[in-house]
Parts: sequence; C-alpha cells; structure tokens
Amino acid sequence: MPLYKDEGLVLRTVKLGEADRIITILTRDHGKIRAVAKGVRRLRSRFGARLEPFMRADLLIATGRSLDVVSQASSKGMYADRIIADYDSYVNAGMVVETADRLFSTLDEPSPRQYLLAVGAVSALARRLHAPGDIGESYMLRALALAGWRPRLDACVVCGGAAGLCAFSTPGGGAMCGGDRTPEARTVTARQLARLRALLAGDWDALDGADDDDDGAGVVHAIVEEWAEYYLERPIRSAHLLDS
Ligand SMILES: [Zn+2]
Repeated sequence: MPLYKDEGLVLRTVKLGEADRIITILTRDHGKIRAVAKGVRRLRSRFGARLEPFMRADLLIATGRSLDVVSQASSKGMYADRIIADYDSYVNAGMVVETADRLFSTLDEPSPRQYLLAVGAVSALARRLHAPGDIGESYMLRALALAGWRPRLDACVVCGGAAGLCAFSTPGGGAMCGGDRTPEARTVTARQLARLRALLAGDWDALDGADDDDDGAGVVHAIVEEWAEYYLERPIRSAHLLDS
C-alpha cells in the first residue's frame, strides 16, 4: 500500500471490531481523513494514547482501498489530559473539534490555515492561555470567517453606515442600524459588538481584560452559536452542552 506522511489533530474516534478504532483526523495537508488504527484498544497498543481526541501527532498513513490505515503515530502535542481535567476546557475543545469536523465536511480541499487555527485553539485550551469560552468562541468565528462566512461588525449590512449599530442578524450577515434592522435581528449593545470584533480578530488583550461579570457575554455566546449553526446547518452539540 502507498504511504503518505502528514501531521494531524484527532477529532473523534469510533470503535471497530474487537480492538481497532476508526480515527477521524484533521490533517495539515490532506484535509479531514478517516483511518483505521489497528489494535489501538489493546492494553499495550503501540499507539499508546496518541490517537485519542485532542491529540496532535506526526502520522504515517497507508492508503487503503476503502479506508486508510494509520501505520505510525508520534506525538506532537499531548493536549488531551490537560483538557479533560477541566470541564470548561473540555466542552470548548469539543466545540472546536466538532466545528472543524463539520467545516471539513463542506470543504473538499485541504487547508493548512484551518488546521493551524484548530491546533492553536486546542493547544491554548490545554495550556489555559485564556478563558476557555473566549478560545472556543474566537475559534468558531475565525474558522467560519476563513471558510467565507465572516460577519460584518463595523458597519450596517444594509446601508453600510457605521453609526447607530444596535442589532445583529445572522441571516443578514452581521450588524444593523436602528433604521434598517430586520424583525429577527437581536438587539446588541456597542460593548457586545466590540466583544464580537475582538473574538473575530483574536484580540486577546481586549478579551483577557474584559469584565467577566458583564452579562453581555451570554448574548455574544448565543450569537456565535447561532452563526455557526446557521452556516454549518446543524446544531452544535457541544455548544448546547455549555448552555445546560
Ligand atoms: Zn443601516
């Protein structure tokens, strides 16, 4: 079987037979792939824990007729233990891998930039670099923007004016002024729009300095979730987990 090398982030796994698993992996250069890891569920698997969700690994893959087979995996980032140890980090990492999974069901070509964005988010969650919710929301907005669904936040999507922005419409594509807002648009404050801009830009100075007690964060989370669900067309399970 022909072999190829790549690096990848494990998105999810499902059991196969007695001892094997099918691993869904977001790779840097081959997009999203599904490959069998043989014997991975045995106690002394040669893969160890390197093919668990949230793990980043250098891979050697054999191209199969129906499914590819993981031939070698060496760790590049042991993120899983640190993520699983913290509930908020775990929920948000779940949101990252699920968004990446679904995004790559609609993208049919590899995207190293999308790969690095997902790896960056999972790594930041493992290292507790910022509030887990900020990392998850920022990832979702940036990944969708990179795929072509970028919300307009600095001007009204109808008239193009920057003054009097007071609403956000997901189907409309972003911010709206008072004169143009459509019935389904949510009311947003200037602070909430500023938070959305910071998430979209990955402006960590602004996000880390924000007041956590500001109840506007809930509205912003709902907007990010709605934006991702609308453009990916299916509810994001992990996001709902966070609401409950
Ligand atoms: Zn307007």
